[in-house]
Amino acid sequence: MAREPLDTLAAVRAAGKTGVARTLTAIETAAGEDWLAALLDEAVANATGYVLGLTGPPGVGKSTLTSALVATWRGEGLSVAVLAVDPSSRRSGGALLGDRTRMKTDPADESVFIRSMAARDRLGGLSDHSIAAVALLRAVYDMVLVETVGIGQSEGDIALVADTIVLCVQPGSGDSLQFMKAGIMELPDIVAVTKADMGDVARRAAADVEGALSLNHRAADDWPVPVVQVSAPAATGVDGLVEAVRNHRDFMAEAGRLDAHRDRLHERWIREAVRESHGRTGLRQAEGLLSRTGHKCPFAAINRVAEALEGRPRLP
Ligand code: GDP
Repeated sequence: MAREPLDTLAAVRAAGKTGVARTLTAIETAAGEDWLAALLDEAVANATGYVLGLTGPPGVGKSTLTSALVATWRGEGLSVAVLAVDPSSRRSGGALLGDRTRMKTDPADESVFIRSMAARDRLGGLSDHSIAAVALLRAVYDMVLVETVGIGQSEGDIALVADTIVLCVQPGSGDSLQFMKAGIMELPDIVAVTKADMGDVARRAAADVEGALSLNHRAADDWPVPVVQVSAPAATGVDGLVEAVRNHRDFMAEAGRLDAHRDRLHERWIREAVRESHGRTGLRQAEGLLSRTGHKCPFAAINRVAEALEGRPRLP
């Protein structure tokens, strides 16, 4: 079969999962090419899907929860993409990550797409490639679930792509203490305390998190962060989590919050990309250009800034 170039969103959508997979490969191999930037910017302009970020330490139950969420959303007739950001550079004996083969989905289902991508050096840190992947998936699928392994500061990376962030907390692990440390408490839109079947220890973890959240000063129109308890074996709590996600999505849809949020994300994508390729010095040098490029076409902007920094004039 001839391989037509998939350089428009319509072509990618028409080619289904194969088209998406090929474009993700292009993201990894053809970064910086103008046709790809144009395609990704078309995806940015047509981002009809919604991005849920799921983060938490290894073993907390993220993969288990991902499977449950995928099944629930498919049951509602939504198409779903899962992007698991793997800290492969630090994978030691496969112990760090849950076994992805446990995720049971029908390979023939065209409406479920699952892919893992390597993180950059920081554990769970999102690479430029994973950011571009989310931009694409968000224009093809109804729900995009991005799963990252969060420990310490890298939890914050999920905020580069997610519209709603779910932080998973493991009962009895000290996670709830970690949670109280500055920086993490502000991150989640929803907290999921996993393994509710552990009984008292799970209830205590949920109470600790609720206590920590109550110390957070909120304005009257801020989103009140819900704490939900979920249990995979008891099959409880997933509905509550799905409802909490729906409520947060409704909240984001009000008063132009989602549009403003995504504008901020796109601006950060440009800055992250410039910093990753040209360091902080490059970012400082590019400041003037960045303020002029705007953020409606972030991928074209990334290329223009890189060209300017490298002294590469555009070909006529
Ligand atoms: P991940 O590393 O965060 O993706 O965690 P996994 O989903 O791979 O789960 C880690 C371990 O916890 C596995 O052995 C799961 O079977 C177990 N697990 C996941 N969810 C639950 C739960 O709700 N209750 C209990 N008791 N165990 C769970």
